[in-house]
Order: sequence, then C-alpha cells, then structure tokens
Amino acid sequence: MIAKRSEKELKYLREAGQILAGVLKELEKTIMNNPGITTFDLNKLAESLILKQKAKPAFKGYRGFPYSLCVSLNEEVVHGIPGPRQIRPGDIVSLDLGVNWKGYYSDAAITVPIGKVSREVRKLLKVTKMALYKGIKQARRGKRVSDISFAIQHYVEKNGFSVVKDLTGHGIGRKLHEEPAIPNFGEPGHGPQLEEGMVLAIEPMVNMGNSEVEILKDHWTIVTKDRQLSAHFEHTVAVTNNHPEILTLYNTQQKKDLS
Ligand code: MG
Repeated sequence: MIAKRSEKELKYLREAGQILAGVLKELEKTIMNNPGITTFDLNKLAESLILKQKAKPAFKGYRGFPYSLCVSLNEEVVHGIPGPRQIRPGDIVSLDLGVNWKGYYSDAAITVPIGKVSREVRKLLKVTKMALYKGIKQARRGKRVSDISFAIQHYVEKNGFSVVKDLTGHGIGRKLHEEPAIPNFGEPGHGPQLEEGMVLAIEPMVNMGNSEVEILKDHWTIVTKDRQLSAHFEHTVAVTNNHPEILTLYNTQQKKDLS
C-alpha cells in the first residue's frame, strides 16, 4: 500500500522539506568556505541546525546509524559515516540528510565539488542532478513507478555513466522509508500507478565507471567496486493533480528545470 497524504499532512511534509533544504544549503556553504573541515564537524553542524528548529535528525538511530548526516566522499556512494576525515580540494562530497518534523519525514541529498575538479567530474555531477530532474518529471498522476526509473537510467547511460542498481529511492511520509521502492533502472510502464498525494524520495546514484558497488567493513559505507567516483542527488517530491511538487527545493530558480 502506498500512502496518499491529505492536504494537512502535505503541509507538515512541506515544512519538513523546507527545514531540510535550509540545512543542506548551510552545509554546502560551510564546506565551500572551510577547507579541511572534518566530516564529523559537518555532522555536528547538521544536527545542531535541525535541533535549533525543533525538528529531529531522521537518520540518527535509524537501523543503528549513529549520526545525523551521511557524508560520502569520492568513490563512496552513500551512507558514509562522519569521522575525522578532512574534506580537501579536489574531493566531491555527497551530503545525505533526513528530517523528522512532527512525525513527518523529508530526505534529500546533494553532491558538491570542492575547489577545482576536472571537466569529467563536473559532468558527472551535472548528469546526476539532471537525472534526478528527469525522474521527478515522471512523478505525475497516472504514470507508473518504473517511468521514473527508466527516465533516470536512460539519461545517465546516454551520457556515458552508470546507475547503481543495488540501492533505490523510496516512498516517504510517516516513516523515512515507505513503499514503493523506486529503482534507478528499468523498463517504463511497470510498477504501481502514481496517484495524487503520494510522496516519493527520488535519488539517482550515478557512477563514473560501472554500476557495481560493495559495502566497507564498517558495515555502512557503500563504495564503487572499481573505486571510481560516484555522485548522488535526491529530493522528496509530492505527486499532485498537476506538476510534481519538490518539497525539499531550496532555490525556486530550480523550478525552471521542471517546466
Ligand atoms: Mg533516501
């Protein structure tokens, strides 16, 4: 069963999304302006910014994850654990964050380049972000879940990269992870039909090399098997009776990508 949210519930989900978007923006600024900052300090900042707004960090304690923020560098795909590692020029840093606001959840991720990175790396980030928007465009009443999957995979592979297949996007709302699973690959026209009020976390994970990943001995960090770079962008999106509504959008200018 995929939940459909009432207007009142959507109000809370929007608020959860806006809190998250603001914190992510602040983290992005902090990384850019503080070379050498540790991933642990970023986690601390994320947590304090969330708590200051009387919300709760959704990841902390989730299946035993000890922190509020996932920080994944370079060949790390997702679920990187904050620690003493310093962020350096040339790194790409994926920040994945979840917020619980009055029992309603939001989830979003960005990947940011630090200092100067190559043209190919910039392309990886751009393609991953655009793939997210290609997926979001399919989050419409009457479409099926795999229409999102197909749009993402098609765009990524057309651009010479690969999608991670072992991890998926997901429904979200009263829990961080709900039905349906939203793979980043597949043929169109399959899976549940999307209806007004459904809320989805769409999250392409895109590898520069092949799609295979493995988990590190810390039991959390997912890395590319070939240790090539990986990027991750995610938004929480509501299916409406019209355009998809991105609940975790910070910059309204990005709305033009959906038109
Ligand atoms: Mg997610």
